Amino acid sequence: VGHIGSSLSIADLIAAVFTGPFRFQPAEDPDRDRFVLSKGHAVLALYSALHQTGCLSHEQFESFGTDGTELVGHPEHTLVGIDFSTGSLGQGLSMAAGSALAARLQSSGRRTVALLSDAECDEGSVWEAAMFASHHRLGRLLAIIDVNGQQALGYTESVLSLEPLRDRWRSFGWDVVEVDGHDHDTLAEAIAAPVVDRPRVVLARTVFGKGISYMEGRIEWHYLPMSDEHYEQAVGELNRSAP
Ligand SMILES: [Mg+2]
Repeated sequence: VGHIGSSLSIADLIAAVFTGPFRFQPAEDPDRDRFVLSKGHAVLALYSALHQTGCLSHEQFESFGTDGTELVGHPEHTLVGIDFSTGSLGQGLSMAAGSALAARLQSSGRRTVALLSDAECDEGSVWEAAMFASHHRLGRLLAIIDVNGQQALGYTESVLSLEPLRDRWRSFGWDVVEVDGHDHDTLAEAIAAPVVDRPRVVLARTVFGKGISYMEGRIEWHYLPMSDEHYEQAVGELNRSAP
C-alpha cells in the first residue's frame, strides 16, 4: 500500500514521542497520556511504535494490510493502543483539544499529543481548534507539525503557502518551537520542555520519505506502493545508515 513516504517523514517524530515523557499504557488507566495521529494515513509509523513498545504482538504487526486484520490503512480506535480513529484530515487537533479540556474538567494531569501534517494547516478546522486551545489555555496540549513541505499532489509552497508558519501559530497564542524533525536530541528537548500556561506547537522540519534515496522529497511516493526491487533497495539503504 501507499503512504510509505509519509510514514518515513514522521518516523523520528513518533520515536521521540514514544520515548519521551509520556505514558500511553496501560489502556485501562484513565490518567494515561493520549496520542492523536491526525495524519492518519501515516499509521505505519504508529504501528511500528506500538510494536516496539510491546503494545502489538509480532503476529499482529505482520498482519498489516491482510484480510481480517485490525491493522488497516488508517488508525482505528477499536485497536488497543489507539484512542482516536483518524484519516479525515484537519480533524485531529480538534479531538486533541477536546481531550485536553476533558482532562482539565476531570482534574486529571494527563497530557494530549497530536501529530499533524503541515498541509492539514490548509484547513480552517485546524485554526478553529488552535483558537479554542489558546482561549482555554490548554497547556497540557502539545501539537507537533510534520513540516515536510509537501502534500498528496504537490509541494505546499505551490498548492497553498503556509509561511510564515511560526508567526501564524504564535499569533494564535501558542508557544512555538521550531526544530529539525530528524535530530533526536533537539526533538527530545522540545517535547520534554516544561508545560506552560498555553498550548505548545513543535514545528518539525522534516524530509518526506526520509532515508530512502529515490523517495526523499518526491511527490509520487505519497501514493505509490513499493515493488519488490524498491523494497530491497530501501531496506539496504536503511540498514547501511542504521547506527
Ligand atoms: Mg506534508
